[in-house]
Amino acid sequence: MKNGWETVIGLEIHAQLSTESKIFCGCSTRFGDEPNANTCPVCLGLPGALPVLNRRAVELGARAALALALNINERSIFARKNYFYPDLPKGYQISQYDQPFSERGELEIMTAERDEGGHPREWLPLKVRITRLHLEEDAGKNVHEGLPEVDRFSYIDLNRAGTPLAEIVTEPDFRSSWQAYDYVNYVRQALQWVGASEADMEKGNLRCEANVSVRRIGDEKFGTKVELKNLNSVRYMQRAIEFEIERQIELIESGGRVAQETRLWDERNSETRVMRSKEEAHDYRYFPEPDLPPLIVSKDFIEEVRASLPELPDARRKRFAEEYGLAYADAVQLTQNRALADYYEEAARAANNSRGAANWIRTELLRELEAAGLTADKSPVRPEELGALLRFIEEGKISGKQGKDVLIEMFASGKSAAAIIEERGLVQVSDTGEIDAIIEEVLNSNPQQLAQYRSGKETIFGFFVGQVMKASKGKANPKVVNERLKEKLNK
Ligand code: ADP
Ligand code: ZN
Ligand code: MG
Repeated sequence: MKNGWETVIGLEIHAQLSTESKIFCGCSTRFGDEPNANTCPVCLGLPGALPVLNRRAVELGARAALALALNINERSIFARKNYFYPDLPKGYQISQYDQPFSERGELEIMTAERDEGGHPREWLPLKVRITRLHLEEDAGKNVHEGLPEVDRFSYIDLNRAGTPLAEIVTEPDFRSSWQAYDYVNYVRQALQWVGASEADMEKGNLRCEANVSVRRIGDEKFGTKVELKNLNSVRYMQRAIEFEIERQIELIESGGRVAQETRLWDERNSETRVMRSKEEAHDYRYFPEPDLPPLIVSKDFIEEVRASLPELPDARRKRFAEEYGLAYADAVQLTQNRALADYYEEAARAANNSRGAANWIRTELLRELEAAGLTADKSPVRPEELGALLRFIEEGKISGKQGKDVLIEMFASGKSAAAIIEERGLVQVSDTGEIDAIIEEVLNSNPQQLAQYRSGKETIFGFFVGQVMKASKGKANPKVVNERLKEKLNK
């Protein structure tokens, strides 16, 4: 970024909670059904229909809030947020306003500036304050067809209307696009990890808006912010923020002013475009939802949910680094998801070698898994089997290079390491007695070469190694062969 300027970013994430039914009615949340198949008087907004809160949505909201270190309020209030849009048939959205479900979270995430190719330079901790996480319903979808002003048709699909969302808002604590990038990935992973949301941006069940402003270094007041929408991946968001930073700096330096507005990211043209000027909170005329009582959650409920959470990704990364002596970047890779982290721990135990297991998983196994499009829990090579393979290598029964081939066959066939090593006749002979016997034989049947060697032609050493390896059908451990040969020849 240009010298003398600082960026300020705050993020809003909408995550769809993984319930089977909607937040205020019993309709299914299934994706991909016939348009408007999953609707009823409540989510169609018909007069007189009354909402009833889905308990599972509250549980998943609590899992999400606790995974992000927020405080859950024992009492919160639903509010009507009024706006008119065809995909919002009631004319308002049930959300939360001044008394949200949870607030005041503080996270420490790891973040890195990246080089041109997007590779992290150095990981550093960053404190991020989460203002609030509240519960609300999603709107439906407008579907457009044809060309505008020619033969354009618009349709409305209300299957999504009433799907539960958690809206997660941060303080303006980010100072670069990469910090925002690392935060969104952190949240995505945390939500998936505790089963609160699929948090998949491509499927649209995690959506993200970035508020971006710039100021001259040393200024106390924040600049005017622009809200960026239509960010369909974390990488698009990062690129959109970069574009926006440059646009705002150029605008101010050429004497202009940043307008408070909402802009859309256009990935094809790599630019942001104005969508509308930003509405203010008073435009929404928030007021308490009269059809729903206050949401009361007990301390016991909160503690029950807390106790049911798995060890969180961040804690697990730190433990992997400390307990297993892994580099932070390796711990990050092995905690991409819970299945892989579980796999790693089992394999490390079975191999009795935590670093060896880490290296083999990071390089060999992940490559096979990725090529097959599988997650670690579906790996045809079970963690105990990978551990067994590593022990064969450790004990010198097969070489590391042979081990790589064996792993590939294990992956393809589902056979055990022992079975493949046996079938291929791979077991290395490291037994000195056996090797000595072969050496004896080779020396006896090559008296001429032996005489040459003894008279000083040391280059003939390689010939003997070759003969011994051949006589052992390639099974002799080359390291042992070298050692024993040297000893016998120089005697
Ligand atoms: P609004 O009323 O426009 O929705 P909020 O104060 O609720 O604004 O903030 C919305 C988001 O914008 C939050 O994530 C907040 O951290 C962020 N934000 C607020 N002011 C700024 C600013 N000047 N620059 C960047 N982000 C900001
Ligand atoms: Zn319904
Ligand atoms: Mg706001």
